[in-house]
Amino acid sequence: MQSFQQYINGQFEDASAQFESLDPATGQPWALMPEAKACDVNRAVEAAHCAFLAPEWAGMTASARGKLLLRLADLIAENAQVLAELETRDTGKIIRETRAQIAYVAEYYRYYAGLADKIEGAHLPIDKPDMEVWLRREPIGVVAAVVPWNSQLFLSAVKIGPALAAGCTMVLKASEEGPAPMLEFARIFDQAGFPKGVLSIVTGFGADCGSVLTSHPKVAHVAFTGGPETARHIVRNSAENLASTSLELGGKSPFIVFDDADLESAANAQVSGIFAATGQSCVAGSRLLVQNSVKEAFLEMLKAKAEACVIGTPDDMATEIGPLCTKRQRDMAQALIARSLEQGAKLVTGGKAPEGAGYYFPPTILDCSAARDAECVTREFFGPVLSVVGFDTEEEAIALANDTAFGLASGVFTRNLTRAHRMIRQIRAGIVWVNTYRAVSPMAPFGGHGLSGHGREGGLAAALDYTTVKTVWLRT
Ligand code: NAD
Repeated sequence: MQSFQQYINGQFEDASAQFESLDPATGQPWALMPEAKACDVNRAVEAAHCAFLAPEWAGMTASARGKLLLRLADLIAENAQVLAELETRDTGKIIRETRAQIAYVAEYYRYYAGLADKIEGAHLPIDKPDMEVWLRREPIGVVAAVVPWNSQLFLSAVKIGPALAAGCTMVLKASEEGPAPMLEFARIFDQAGFPKGVLSIVTGFGADCGSVLTSHPKVAHVAFTGGPETARHIVRNSAENLASTSLELGGKSPFIVFDDADLESAANAQVSGIFAATGQSCVAGSRLLVQNSVKEAFLEMLKAKAEACVIGTPDDMATEIGPLCTKRQRDMAQALIARSLEQGAKLVTGGKAPEGAGYYFPPTILDCSAARDAECVTREFFGPVLSVVGFDTEEEAIALANDTAFGLASGVFTRNLTRAHRMIRQIRAGIVWVNTYRAVSPMAPFGGHGLSGHGREGGLAAALDYTTVKTVWLRT
């Protein structure tokens, strides 16, 4: 069986223990992964702390850091195929998605390479003629990053890119579900030429090595992507040393379709909005709110498109829906659907995991118009399950859209420009996509509020999160 190593202080090494990683397409073990324990994590944080203070990194110019990030981006592009294949193998994410995503992972590193020497301080024109006062933007220190299994290469790029551009160092804990792409990424990172200890990558279990990392006294900032329940642990952990946090959490994003929308384009966006990544996406448009006048017609279109999705092995370029990452995810989807049906939801299509090996689950649509409080409407699912609620008026659509403790993404489909503006103003979410869904760019901040977390990834805002301001007073 293939065996992977952790990456600490520029060295590849075995961890204190190992665990088996399962192939989601077969449910069988396929590789041995390093299982970091407290002693591994402590060494990684010490190395990051030393690297943060060492002249090789602390004294490096911002543009030199940018050049290293650019080299990293080029190496990612050169190694895109192997990274995509490993992410597909270890997490079940389909190969056409992992290939496409790695291309823009490289773009995110390029963006932050270019930003490294543009993180500026400021001069203050204060009213004391014998004083010069200015603000220095300095890196915040050692960052602990924790990521979930879905899209790890991307979710780590939006942390590593801005943190290293700002001059921080980092210890990243990959998910225990499918860490292989991050351990391969470590090999690529190692070739880019960063000083030792600037980035270490460990893998292991959350309650164990994740807790040790996020409560470590030498960590200044915790960057977390994952579920709200874990975020509560992380915030408690980081309270030990009062580290700052950025939290990118879950969502139950409304996808709102008015009767004046281009229904064909809205239906295509809804299908990829919910079924991409087999529904395991924080921005999944998992709550369709559709105007009652077009509801039946729109549901017919969605049903046909959902049933035409090609379900298959994740390594096949023809596959559109692969397996879920874990058996737990599949069993949870099955149980949540059963409870939602008991609560009054009506099955439109899908709903039952197929017999056989692998964690497959079909695209599922539930009409919840008569069961607006059903679990599938209110809870994040992280599976290919769409709940549908009809509405009559714009006011009702806004009330339904905002009837959630999450606030990550939202979609509005209408040809009425003034209505679109009213919706943009009133929807409580970190992202509003109008007549499109899932568009991303390194320049565009990404994040939410409420149970969806706080802080932003992408854009200049993310790099500033990894800095602190030093105010300097100089008597002349
Ligand atoms: P999770 O919260 O269970 O795990 C995420 C990571 O946290 C894993 O690496 C895990 O090992 C670690 N962890 C678990 N317990 C920990 C602890 N006590 N201390 C420190 N670390 C700990 O999330 P998941 O189930 O792997 O991922 C799914 C969740 O992630 C969903 O809620 C999804 O919406 C969210 N997500 C959000 C975004 C975003 O950008 N907003 C993107 C992708 C996924």
